[in-house]
Parts: sequence; C-alpha cells; structure tokens
Amino acid sequence: MAGGLNEKWRSRVLEILQELIRIDTVNPPGNETKAARYLRTLLTSAGVEAQIIESAPGRGNLIARLRGSGGARPLMLMGHLDVVAADPAEWSHPPFAAEIHDGFIWGRGSTDMKQMVAISTVILLALAEQVGHDRSLKRDVVLLATADEEHGGRQGMGWLVRERREWFDVACAINEGGGTPLRVGGRLFFTCQTAEKGVCRTVWVAQSKGGHGAYPREDMASLKLARAVARLGDGHLSGRVTETMSRALSIIARATSEQATRRVEKLLTKGKVEAALQAAGFAQEDLGRYRALFYDTASLTVLRAGDPQSINVIPPTATAYVDGRLLPGQTQAGFLELLRTRGGDEVSIEPYNNQFSPGLESSGDAPIVEIMGEVIAECCPGAAVVPWMCAGSTDAKHLVPIGVPVYGFIPAKPFPDGVEGAGAHAVDERLWLESLYFGLDVLYEVVYRFCMRV
Ligand SMILES: [Zn+2]
Repeated sequence: MAGGLNEKWRSRVLEILQELIRIDTVNPPGNETKAARYLRTLLTSAGVEAQIIESAPGRGNLIARLRGSGGARPLMLMGHLDVVAADPAEWSHPPFAAEIHDGFIWGRGSTDMKQMVAISTVILLALAEQVGHDRSLKRDVVLLATADEEHGGRQGMGWLVRERREWFDVACAINEGGGTPLRVGGRLFFTCQTAEKGVCRTVWVAQSKGGHGAYPREDMASLKLARAVARLGDGHLSGRVTETMSRALSIIARATSEQATRRVEKLLTKGKVEAALQAAGFAQEDLGRYRALFYDTASLTVLRAGDPQSINVIPPTATAYVDGRLLPGQTQAGFLELLRTRGGDEVSIEPYNNQFSPGLESSGDAPIVEIMGEVIAECCPGAAVVPWMCAGSTDAKHLVPIGVPVYGFIPAKPFPDGVEGAGAHAVDERLWLESLYFGLDVLYEVVYRFCMRV
C-alpha cells in the first residue's frame, strides 16, 4: 500500500467527524437534514455532485456522486446519519462535544456510524482532488448518507429503495457491520460482513381470571407467562451452520494447519459449534460471544403484568415482548412455529408490530472482498479478511433483497493491551483515532483499486 493518505486528509477526516458528532441527530426525531446539509456544502464546494432528499420534514438523505467513465457499475459507500440517544449524566465526557481524550474521540455516533460517513466523505474529496474529474475512474463512487437506520430505515434507506430505485443500480455497497479485528491463535483477521441475521419480534400474552392476592392459583396469567418464557432457556433456540460462518472458521483454522481445518469441518457437520470454534483457535472465554452467530435466538426484553399500586390483585393478563434474531434462511413462519413449540399452549405468541426482516447472505466470492484482503495483507502483514455474520441488523436489509450485495467493512485497529474502547449504543462510545486513520487508509485504497482497475 502506498502508505495511506497524507496528514492533510487525516486532519480533515477528524474535523468532519467532530462536526458530525456535534450535530445532534438523535433518532427520534432524527433531524438528519442538518448533517446532510453540512456534508453537501463540503462536497459541492469541492466540485462533487451532491443533493439532499427528505422523506419527511427534517429527515434528510444525502446522495453524492463522483463520476467515473461509466465503464463499470458504481460503487456505493453507505452510512446512516442518525444516532441513538445518550444521557450526558451517564457519560465521562459530553456525548455531543466530540472531545478528544486519551487518543480517542468521544461521542455518540463516533463508532455507529458517523466515522464511516466522515471517511466516505474524505474518500470522495481526496479522489476528486487526486484523480480529478477527468473520468479516469472506471466507475462512479456514490456516497449515500441516510436517515433513520436506528429505527429500521423506514424514513431512510427503506424509503429510498422505493422512491429512488434507480440510485441502486450499483455493483455493490460498503456498509457498517464488519472490519472488526479478531485475534485467533496468535493471528490477526479482519471481518467482512457478508451475512446478517434477521429480526422477528413477538408479543406473548397469557390470560386467566383475575382475583385476590390472598388466593394464589396455578393458572394465574403471570405464572402461565413465567412458565412459557422460562422455556426459552438461554435463548439459543435452533442451531445451523451458515455458508458464511463455515467459510470463516475454515479460513481461520487453515492459518493453523490443514489438520485443524479438517477437524473444524467435521465438528461443524455434526453441529458442534463450540468445539469447532475452539478447534479453529478461539479462546475459551470468547466462545459465548460468537455462539449467537450459529443459532436462531430469542431474548426476553420486556415483561408486563399487574401494578405495584395493586400488589394484592392478581392481574388477568400478563405480557412479554421477545426480540428474536434469525439466521439467514429461517422464515417468519418457521420461527413462530419454533417459539410456539417452546412456549407451549398457555400463551398466545404473535408477531409484534410487523417487526420482521429475514436474514441476509451475500457471496463472499466477490472482487471487492478480494481487494479488501489484498489491502489488509499489505498494511498488516500476515493478516487476512474473513467473511462474517453480523448478529445485529443494518440497512443492508433494504438492499440485499433488491439485488445489491452489501459488505460490512469499516476496518479498525486492534487495541494494544490495556486499552479499551466502547462501541455502538454504549455509554462513553468512543473511537480510537488510530482506528479512524487506519479505516480511512484502508478504505481509500480499497475504493481506489476497485474503481481504477476493472
Ligand atoms: Zn449503525
């Protein structure tokens, strides 16, 4: 690699990220237009086309395009402008001030995902300056900075996919969800998210006669519900090894030995996930964190029954809300069936508020993934890129179903021992500046190679 972008672009990316963090885009209400306007000014004054389209007042989505010769389909860089709430009382440094302490930039959105928006903006600005507007790029580079991802994207990516379908005639998109460094068995890997779990939220209701608290019964609604939710156990319901995770573990094991690869493959065929992770080289204490990537899961997140003001009254209804996450390939009907079998017949289990989206999987065999691997190997000798699944949900759910392959890849540097960060949605969310510059260098190089070499 050419050694990355120079100092000027590093201070530029930091300055843009700081400005973005200081623009309050907590969703709800979002108010993303303010951030979109700031970016539009930066881009248009450098001669890059940019426009804002609002799905509703204040809910701005920005599209910017650096034109290439049209020899190949565009590359899309995507990022959401909205963030989740932050209570300043809980934070060590104010969440919307973008202060720098201990080598980190502190603030809501610093890792989720205003850093990607800042990096992508600088990539467009740097390409415009360094490659120019002479169409030597073989394809357009498009930046799409959107509203409302944190609430499912109905005012953002979901809306754009319906209203501006022509924007999505692209080769692929780079998104959040990957780029995380993994140290396994002494070697370094970076994830590239090629798969993502789906979502299926449900509401569980138990009903029975109410009554006086002095006369307990086995058929009280609260107990029926308690028995049903207890059967969720630790929430890992039905296991399956996806193509993505099977490839990931094989690549990781191969770094150790051919023998380890064969062991891992054998264990995966038998569905022995924890043993396979261990055979691939994952440390015992990390196993729990990765288990969810091999199961349809359900977390009991909300419980409601009765009222402490009426502690002597047996409530006639008890309700639970369950956040379900599905592996790619699982259907809504299949998952509901799974929950109903587990939950038993003392409760009714129904979808909650239409909150369903299927899991996604794109092929990891793609030229851009190859380039990611090439660039990573050059800047971190011995390191490799592995396809990976994201247990959470991103705006990729709007794009993969219309045929856009989405790759989650915002490369971050592994922390040295003793250094700790805090990521998406956490109190004290902060980004290590080294990771910001590393992400910019790697992504610039990936974009450059993908758009120059066709
Ligand atoms: Zn995000």
